[in-house]
Amino acid sequence: MTVNVTVTGAAGQIGYALLFRIASGQLLGPDVPVRLRLLEIPAAVKAAEGTAMELDDSAFPLLEGIDVTDDAKRAFDGTNVALLVGARPRTKGMERGDLLEANGGIFKPQGEAINAGAASDIRVLVVGNPANTNALIARSHAPDVPSDRFTAMTRLDHNRAMAQLSKRLDVPVSQIKKLTIWGNHSATQYPDVFHAEVGGQNAAQALNDAEWLRDTFIPTVAKRGAAIIEARGASSAASAASAAIDHVNTWVNGTPEGDWTSMAVVSDGSYGVPEGLVSSFPVVCKDGAWEIVQDLEINQFSRDRIDASVGELAEERDAVRNLGLI
Ligand code: NDP
Repeated sequence: MTVNVTVTGAAGQIGYALLFRIASGQLLGPDVPVRLRLLEIPAAVKAAEGTAMELDDSAFPLLEGIDVTDDAKRAFDGTNVALLVGARPRTKGMERGDLLEANGGIFKPQGEAINAGAASDIRVLVVGNPANTNALIARSHAPDVPSDRFTAMTRLDHNRAMAQLSKRLDVPVSQIKKLTIWGNHSATQYPDVFHAEVGGQNAAQALNDAEWLRDTFIPTVAKRGAAIIEARGASSAASAASAAIDHVNTWVNGTPEGDWTSMAVVSDGSYGVPEGLVSSFPVVCKDGAWEIVQDLEINQFSRDRIDASVGELAEERDAVRNLGLI
């Protein structure tokens, strides 16, 4: 059966890298036909139409059709997978409250449109920043959609942490398992290697270098976005798109046996993260659903960092609550 996939901000950098991978079957699998819905703001509809022309010209066998629209209702009508990429970036002189308010104006109507018309199996991934709180806003305007269908992306942070660890230990990424990103997709995120395994051995023990972990690994992963901008002169786009593909693919098709992934999901109170916050956790996916990995022992080093990132999420939640956005 054809799966409807909606991508917002379709004319942007991430959209450009993402759409071709979805159309080629990498999001859901090589046997799943897709229909794309591209949502853009009116000023960018023409550019999105240009991308749609290039998608046509790629003659992807799995791509059954493309609609381009600036109408959220149309974009989400009957949709099965929604990738919310378009967001209002922070511009010079903009306060955090202004940023949250501007994004509330985007994610509130999108949540309402998802609630009104999406398919009953809808799965939502928010990529546009501040992703966790944008997901919280969208979710709070979709009361008829089960809250486990709203997620935000920390898979890029997860993949970045895998890459750093792989380089440091000189092992292929395929040997690294059970790494976790906790908290917010922001500079406070916490990449946790204490439960990770490298070739079957505990990663923290294999590293045996607390200083590198604290002073190099954690800041390198958290500040990787800025380092890419510095090097490329533009923000990461293909790697963000790749992580979005990974996130949805894992959600739908499952985590490998003996491993887990990182996803920002609506907290049920696990690990002391207040219920309702959209926070990153270790999760396993099976039969199209996710579950937070339970009963991991959290040492004090990890506890302090998880609490700091979750504290930031609680502040963002309070700010959008005070603005009447949730
Ligand atoms: P990008 O495609 O580069 O980025 C889109 C969003 O993804 C930004 O919020 C960006 O956050 C976020 N993001 C999350 N993780 C990452 C990451 N690791 N690296 C880079 N970005 C990340 O932005 P463009 O400006 O090229 O395109 C945005 C498009 O969205 C525009 O075409 C615009 O018209 C559209 N838009 C559509 C809306 C809609 O459909 N209703 C609403 C608003 C915008 P950050 O800014 O922090 O990097």
